Amino acid sequence: MKSFEVPIIYRSPLITAIKKKRKEVDKLKKDFTPTLLDFGPLHLYLARHFGFCYGVENAIEIAFRTVEENPGKRIFLLSEMIHNPQVNADLQAHGVQFMQDTYGKQIIPFGSLTADDVVIIPAFGTTLETEQLLQSKGIHTEKYNTTCPFVEKVWNRSEVIAKNNYTIIIHGKPNHEETRATFSHAASNAQMIDTFKPADTEEHFADTKDTLCYATNDNQTAVSGMLQMPADLAIVVGGYNSSNTSHLVELCEAQLPTYFINSAEKILPGNKIQHYNFHSRQEQTTCNFMPAYQPVKVLLTSGASCPDALVEGVITSLAEMYGVEDKMIEMEKQF
Ligand code: SF4
Repeated sequence: MKSFEVPIIYRSPLITAIKKKRKEVDKLKKDFTPTLLDFGPLHLYLARHFGFCYGVENAIEIAFRTVEENPGKRIFLLSEMIHNPQVNADLQAHGVQFMQDTYGKQIIPFGSLTADDVVIIPAFGTTLETEQLLQSKGIHTEKYNTTCPFVEKVWNRSEVIAKNNYTIIIHGKPNHEETRATFSHAASNAQMIDTFKPADTEEHFADTKDTLCYATNDNQTAVSGMLQMPADLAIVVGGYNSSNTSHLVELCEAQLPTYFINSAEKILPGNKIQHYNFHSRQEQTTCNFMPAYQPVKVLLTSGASCPDALVEGVITSLAEMYGVEDKMIEMEKQF
């Protein structure tokens, strides 16, 4: 698979070494057991697959290149590029402005755009209506379109299905950028069938299992593999508005205490953790989240839009709780 140039601050030397090693010994991705990082009093089980996917790395590479190539120009992103607060904040710090929030609420009116502006389409893609609007303003988005090829694959699949006279039902969060974009592209192709016979499923249901991308598949299967390990708790790192990360949390919390955090700073002094409850959509603080006995066994993973550097930060914070952070350098050499 193609490799991308993403800012070094998002990488983690330890995690890069682990992923490289796991890839070398398991080229066909058959082994979903987690990687054990044995710190003595702390056993960390790192999921076989986690972190930046193809689509996210592609989007980050294009977005930072856009900034480099367009000094002095106004650069807009239609909405958050991916659902990670650090990456989005970094882009804003480089002068990139977001036109809509994650739910489609307008922050900067489209009316203020001129043909001289640069507009980046996020990894989720955008609606046909927005594409047409940008074209009508003379803004060319082809060069700075970060739509994930796996999202486009779903659009193409919907086109094929529609041409075969199937009705398209999209399962997703209605306000999510990707759902809205997919709905718009699918709606341009969809036609309603006028009869439905529930008994005749093969005739009436198209096979769409290939619309779940490889990264979502791998990360979820890796969590299932990780959950085979007897453990005390799980920590999932990622943006709180990230759907794929929330689903990893759901899988873990069905089995053991699970803490959803967006950075290492959420691990507080005195064995406390400030974590997000995505059911109530609020952060809460839990005291004594790490049990008193040793070794404590922790499962650790992250969503497809989470930089490995954030996960390394979490590993460091947990190791510091036991005074074993020095072991990380040793571990990096092992892999
Ligand atoms: S999670 Fe899948 S569809 Fe979404 S950006 Fe990554 S590779 Fe693309």
